[in-house]
Amino acid sequence: MKKIALFPGSFDPLTMGHLDTIRRGAKLFDELIIGVFVNSNKKIFFTAEEKVQLIEEAVKDIPNVRVVFQETELTVVTAKRLGASILLRGIRSMKDYEYERDIMEMNYHLDPEIETVFLLARSKYNHISSSLLKEVLLFDGDVKPYLPENVYQLMMKKRDAK
Ligand code: ADP
Repeated sequence: MKKIALFPGSFDPLTMGHLDTIRRGAKLFDELIIGVFVNSNKKIFFTAEEKVQLIEEAVKDIPNVRVVFQETELTVVTAKRLGASILLRGIRSMKDYEYERDIMEMNYHLDPEIETVFLLARSKYNHISSSLLKEVLLFDGDVKPYLPENVYQLMMKKRDAK
């Protein structure tokens, strides 16, 4: 049976940290599907359409990865619908660990057939979050090293248009 994993997230924006998790995850599974949340409580920078397009461009060299809109439904329901039996998530810190453990337990309760797999962020990326990058950008700080080139370019364009 094909091992299909879903990597759900806000990706607002996709960072080098996410991309590293995607590249590493793609080696572990037959197929890795990136699920982009359409709705999020977090402050939105990119629309869902922009995020999907940016991620598709950034992962185009990885053959077993594809990107979908994550509908407003439980993640385990999305996973089932897409034939994924694994949820992939990244952990950067103890704070992430506690948050992710709660979500994992809840997902397990909702669907015990779906297993969550975690990849620890490499130290090079474990201080990066999309929210932190958005905050730095707001005050014109340099975020270039932390973003895929296409994401950086569109962020600059959007910032300059404001
Ligand atoms: P969510 O709103 O679901 O937390 P995010 O886009 O913030 O969405 O994160 C999606 C996943 O990617 C989460 O599992 C998160 O821990 C992981 N992640 C976020 N930033 C990094 C990073 N710098 N390195 C590795 N994993 C990360």
